[in-house]
Amino acid sequence: MSPKKSKKGFSRRKFLKNGLSIGIGTAGSAGMLSSCAKSEKKESGERIRVMTTDGKLVEIDAAQLHELEDVVSHEEARTGDPNREYVMVIDLAKCRNARICVDVCQRMHNLPPEDEWIKVFYMQDSEDTAPYWFPKPCFHCNSPSCVNVCPVGATFKRLDGLVLIDNERCIGCKFCMAACPYSSRVFNWREPEIKDTMKDHHGAIETGVPQKVGTVGKCDFCPDMARMGKLPGCIEACPNGVLYYGDKHEDLVSNGTETVRFSDLIYERAGYRYMEELGTRPSVYYLPPVNRSFDPEVGFKDLPDEIRERYDVERSKIKKETR
Ligand code: SF4
Repeated sequence: MSPKKSKKGFSRRKFLKNGLSIGIGTAGSAGMLSSCAKSEKKESGERIRVMTTDGKLVEIDAAQLHELEDVVSHEEARTGDPNREYVMVIDLAKCRNARICVDVCQRMHNLPPEDEWIKVFYMQDSEDTAPYWFPKPCFHCNSPSCVNVCPVGATFKRLDGLVLIDNERCIGCKFCMAACPYSSRVFNWREPEIKDTMKDHHGAIETGVPQKVGTVGKCDFCPDMARMGKLPGCIEACPNGVLYYGDKHEDLVSNGTETVRFSDLIYERAGYRYMEELGTRPSVYYLPPVNRSFDPEVGFKDLPDEIRERYDVERSKIKKETR
């Protein structure tokens, strides 16, 4: 299916055309329209009314209207691909805390350094057992408690299994943050810095860019990349092949270098889901940290001071708890 065509064959282009013919269409936020007004196009003199996504009816010159070519409609973004069931597999035996997944995710989603949609924890089950690195994105649960508590339908589960957030609809109540047993969500405390290269993004649900101050964000499994037939940013970027992504229906997952049968990988490597007993039925699977060929201490090498301090706190907590 083309990104610009919905299942009913109702393209974005057609939608805008219809909107114009009746005089009222829908557009982005009022802020976005003011950026249209700065366009160098000559005014046509024809005035049209459009409804902004934040509910304001505004009037602009027809020459200032332009189609947002790469924007997927809200309906498509909320439905997803009914023929897919996306899954992620994380091989704990390979993770060395290179943190490239964290960096790439932050860059792709224009996040400030303090917001991590994928976090890498230092784990140690007891003082007598070996430590390991534990990357944790959103688990895109099949019974997502975050979705059940949202009072405005801002966070939702798609047919392809992804749990996403519509930041235009989110009211920042934080119920979803409290409901998530995995602390996968972050609150957007500050206005995102909009770079020049992002001026054509309009808060599209599938790109997660830009985030909106006062709303909640989290790992989205990069649905915009899947639409282009690409892997999520973290998967492509990991230099150690830790993360696999794919479709459970096709029974295939890839880490960018190798593509393997999902069911074989889980069976042969004793794959499991984190805190499965909560009944959340995550779409993220872990392979245990066995047969490692490296010392997990490599993960502390070359860390910036503030990140190292964070791990020091984690380590001292583990020591206290396992004593
Ligand atoms: Fe929701 Fe948390 Fe599950 Fe993600 S991990 S789907 S935020 S409950």
